[in-house]
Parts: sequence; C-alpha cells; structure tokens
Amino acid sequence: MRSKIVAGNWKMNKNVAESKALAEGLVSELNGVSLDNTRVIVSPTFVNLTTVLAATEGSAVEVAAQNMHQEASGAYTGEISADMLTSVGIKSVILGHSERREYFGEDEALLAKKTDAALANGLEVIYCFGEVKEEREANIQEKVVAEQISGALFHLDAAAWSNIVLAYEPVWAIGTGLTASAEQAQEMHAFIRGFVADKYGAEVAENVSILYGGSCKPSNAEEIFSKPDVDGGLIGGASLVAADFAAVIKAI
Ligand code: 13P
Repeated sequence: MRSKIVAGNWKMNKNVAESKALAEGLVSELNGVSLDNTRVIVSPTFVNLTTVLAATEGSAVEVAAQNMHQEASGAYTGEISADMLTSVGIKSVILGHSERREYFGEDEALLAKKTDAALANGLEVIYCFGEVKEEREANIQEKVVAEQISGALFHLDAAAWSNIVLAYEPVWAIGTGLTASAEQAQEMHAFIRGFVADKYGAEVAENVSILYGGSCKPSNAEEIFSKPDVDGGLIGGASLVAADFAAVIKAI
C-alpha cells in the first residue's frame, strides 16, 4: 500500500538557528499525534541538513535535501553529490522543482541523470513537475506533465519505482495563493497514475505516492487530501510555521 506523505519544502528560508527552532517546534507539535500510514518530511537548505537531522532524531520527522548534483565528485564548484547527502544521513532528495527548472535551467535530460545518481546511492527521489499558467489555459497540461514524467523517469526499470515519489505542482499555484481545486488535483493525479500504469502496469502505479503542491495550507489541505489519488502534499509557505505545517499534516 502506498504511503501518505506530507513534505515541507523550506526553499531558501531559515538560517541555522531558525531551522533548528522550526524542526523542534514541529517535533513538539506532532508529539502524541497518531500518524498512521503518513510520512512527514522536511527539507531545509544544504547547510542546515545536519542540524535538522539532529533536531528530529528519534521523531517521526524525516529530512530531505532540496537538490543535488548528478556527478559523483569532481570540479563542480558549489555543488553537492548524492554520496555527500547519504554520508550525513539523508535518505530522500527533491528533484526537478519548478524553481530549479525556471532559474537554473534544469530539464528532463538533466533530471534523468540526477535521478540515476540519487537512486544509485540509495536515495529516494521526490520528483516535481507541473504545467505553467499558459499551458493550463491552452489545456495542454496533461501533455506537459506526461513529457516531464516520461522524460526524466521512464528509462527506469519497474523496481526503481519503489524509490520514486511524484509531486504534481502546477506552477501557477506555487506561492501565488491560487490553489488547484481539489477536483483539478484529483483529475491530474488520476491521469498521472494512469500514465504510469500504461508504462509499468497497475501494481507500480498503485504503489507510487503522488503529492500535490501549490498554496496548500491548513484551510484547504483537508479537501485536497480527501481525493483518492492525492496521497499528500509538498508544502512551501505553510511549512515554515510549525503550527501551520502540523495542521496540514493533521488534515490528511
Ligand atoms: P507554496 O506552498 O508556497 O505554494 O509552495 C509550494 C512548493 O513549491 C513546494 O515545493
């Protein structure tokens, strides 16, 4: 059975003291909360990974990185490898976030390489994708999303999919306050699951968790999470306040 997952992408927010306080605040908010089949993940910046790992040790809160480089090592100034992440205790990495695509030119060919490097090092990949506003207006969102998924992930064998989490984040809903309606999210998530099933069969498709991201917050999380193909969320702004993020987690 696929897991439910609520992941907080802290993006380029919080210094070390603030990261520690947020992680500790979240652990405290979740104390005594029954999480059942729900995984909770937070994703601080690289320099705060070890601090947040320490602050969440012994709790249900997992820690993921926001990005990594595709090469194992070498002359790539400023970059971080998969091995460096696992060496400090990281088990998951977010790849393909729309901000990485927009500001750092990441495309499917590159993300396929990053995915391979992550999986080869035993990291779980939280793979993000989603259409921009103009693509939704032109009603080509399914085609766009299909290309983003197949281009980066469809070279994988079926077994590799046990370490893949999909995160549908319509770009027009990220940080804008505009949320996809629960129906729009369900419609896209069902399409995605069908698309994965067409390639890999029903079992892989049924077992992959598909998260929704984009202005998901305490006031709308419950409705979005109630949809059968929405297995949780990737939360930006609302993950930066422990009580808000805990409220989103409890909505699942
Ligand atoms: P917001 O929740 O701030 O819209 O961000 C979503 C997101 O990009 C998570 O990765």
